[in-house]
Amino acid sequence: LKRAKQTDRIEIYEPEAAMLSDNRFGLETELRNAIEEDRLHLAFQPLIEMASGRVAGFEALARWDNSSGVAVSPTEFIPIAEDSGLIVPLGQWAIGKAAAVLADWDRQNGGQVVNAYFSVNVSAIQLVRDDVAGVVRQALQKHGIGGERLMIELTESAIIGDPDLALSVLRELKALDARVAMDDFGTGYSNLAYLQRLPIDVLKIDRSFVEHMVDDRDKVAIVRTIQSLAEVLGMKTTAEGVETTDQARLLSALGCDFGQGYLFARPMDGKAALDYWRQSLTRPIF
Ligand code: C2E
Ligand code: MG
Ligand code: MG
Ligand code: MG
Repeated sequence: LKRAKQTDRIEIYEPEAAMLSDNRFGLETELRNAIEEDRLHLAFQPLIEMASGRVAGFEALARWDNSSGVAVSPTEFIPIAEDSGLIVPLGQWAIGKAAAVLADWDRQNGGQVVNAYFSVNVSAIQLVRDDVAGVVRQALQKHGIGGERLMIELTESAIIGDPDLALSVLRELKALDARVAMDDFGTGYSNLAYLQRLPIDVLKIDRSFVEHMVDDRDKVAIVRTIQSLAEVLGMKTTAEGVETTDQARLLSALGCDFGQGYLFARPMDGKAALDYWRQSLTRPIF
């Protein structure tokens, strides 16, 4: 597209730019193969209930090691997946995989349902192009798990783009008992009228507000405002990027419901996450 627009212009060959786009194309091809061959995996980061210090669930985060065995960051491959349309199969894979791991955990737990949900990221692009609720329904059916075990994380842009579509998808998800979280809240341009209309369970307070809150009163004011907003709208809050006990204490004092961050744990593989959940039953994390 970019090229077509430039046909009447003199093109200057930029070796660096060409190399970058070559690399991007190479990554896209590799990513396509990795999805087809089921070579991505999920990492799980605990979501801690601040009041009890218990594990409420885990955010499921996509991980990809390229053909050279090097881990490519989601902040690099998710935008590539979004630009190329690969985000749709990637998102379908993530929802299916999360459901499969939950069913596996229940089996490993002696057939007893593990009392923890997985929160899966869904891109705005997938929301528009795919039947997200249908994908969730099929994953739940295939693996025989209840909808309350899954939470779907959407960003503000997913809702702003087409609020009516978002509303109908969210309603379908609620009908399946799945929950919905608004990811990175406070960084987009949420329309408060839409927010009130949407069946959202959790606002995830973006890491950028948590990062310097201990010595930045403006950040505290923003967190306080998001917390009040959530309370008025009957939603819960999860603070992202909690790295220090001072932050955790302050967030707790402000009424924040859940915390996620390196203070508690980094994202880990499924086996370690199940162990983490088991240990949290006898010993509160926070
Ligand atoms: P996100 O959904 O906001 O996920 C939280 C990110 O913050 C994760 O980065 C996590 O590792 C990181 N994080 C957690 N605690 C801390 C902390 O205490 N300090 C700091 N500095 N970072 C922390 P990750 O795994 O690199 O993912 C980055 C982003 O990529 C995610 O942000 C999400 O937007 C996207 N992403 C990851 N997996 C998927 C996926 O399966 N589908 C889609 N659509 N997007 C995904
Ligand atoms: Mg997320
Ligand atoms: Mg987030
Ligand atoms: Mg974030």
